[in-house]
Amino acid sequence: MRIFKKLLDTQLHTKILFGLLAGIPAGLILGPRVDLIEPVGDIFLRLIRMIVVPLVFSSLFVGTASLGDIRKLSRIGAKTIGYYLCTTAIAISIGLILGNIFTPGNSIDEATKEKLMASQKTVAAEKIDIAANKPDIIDTIVHIVPGNPIESLVEANMLQIIFFAILLGIASTMIPGNKGKPLINFFESLSEAMMKTVHIVMKIAPLGVFALIAVVVGKFGADILISLLKYSIIVIVGLGIHVFLTYFTAIRLFSDVNPIEFMKKIRPAQLIAFSTSSSNATLPVTIECCEENLGISENVSSFVLPLGATINMDGTALYQGVAAIFIAQVYGIGLGFTDQLTIVLMATLASIGAAGVPGIGIITLAMVLETIGVPLEGIALILGVDRLLDMCRTVVNITGDCSCALIIGNSENELRTTPDMKE
Ligand code: ASP
Repeated sequence: MRIFKKLLDTQLHTKILFGLLAGIPAGLILGPRVDLIEPVGDIFLRLIRMIVVPLVFSSLFVGTASLGDIRKLSRIGAKTIGYYLCTTAIAISIGLILGNIFTPGNSIDEATKEKLMASQKTVAAEKIDIAANKPDIIDTIVHIVPGNPIESLVEANMLQIIFFAILLGIASTMIPGNKGKPLINFFESLSEAMMKTVHIVMKIAPLGVFALIAVVVGKFGADILISLLKYSIIVIVGLGIHVFLTYFTAIRLFSDVNPIEFMKKIRPAQLIAFSTSSSNATLPVTIECCEENLGISENVSSFVLPLGATINMDGTALYQGVAAIFIAQVYGIGLGFTDQLTIVLMATLASIGAAGVPGIGIITLAMVLETIGVPLEGIALILGVDRLLDMCRTVVNITGDCSCALIIGNSENELRTTPDMKE
């Protein structure tokens, strides 16, 4: 009883971690019967997804309206996009370098290749089909402008929502007199209420995370993991290198916040990202961690974070670098410098148009493979471990978004640090 009471008193991220760790044995014990608790995870996921659209729209609208300065907004926009593009290019380069040094694909023999291909053939064909129907980069840019903003909200199209919220925010400050004020007040109130909803939903996060992890573990085939162990370890080590080298260095250089403290403050968001494999679904928690724990203003976080959930996927890009090299090696295709440069470019561009939802990385990978002439069916080789790696890369994706919000917040004087966060 006392342990139970103590548990209730502990901090939220400790409780979520506890739920996550407890989910592993539960998944192993339940195996396929894990279906029984799947609805609990689904309910939690739907609860946080429910918050995304109203929260992003209202807080970005209020952020833009209260900034009231288009020049500042474009400066923040340029810095954000610059940071996202640079870190993504670094991430893919790390993936490519590791793939070239450790050659994970060379250790796969013909029998393992056949086994892996056979087990995932149909799923791979479905993904290739989706990739073939994806819009190209020009289409993606054209479709940032919503034809109908209500449709954008209904479909949770993040780039269109961002576009419309910013435009409406700017327009509302340009109305003469006080006529724009009621609209701003309304959305201000909505955004506060949505933040409170995040608090309420987070109360059941430990249970939701427990169920989500148990389901992943229960349905996971360990034999596949063993044949793809070297490849998986390279991706995970690469992700670690990117966090500790790229983000820690950027935070050290461009702010006076201690990177370890930064990691502690965003831990709840990282745990939710790990268990949901979705930057989009994690968005409400990411925004909450950045505003309340790191002290980044709404002006900055409401813009940088939703944009990051859609266009910044460093973890995904790094994984694509390793995966492309891995598949090419299994097929005995040598990739020259130009091919690898094409991977950097394609993976950066592909991450812009892809929403932060589970498994999108493998679909954009198919687009990358196509441009360098590696057989698309090759994605069947790595599908077996994709969910596990998706969980890890989503953590890196949202960590990158938060590091950007911190650095931009600091450079724009929109960051309220507490003494415990300093170096
Ligand atoms: N699940 C990742 C995210 O939401 C995207 C991916 O790598 O598939 O950020």
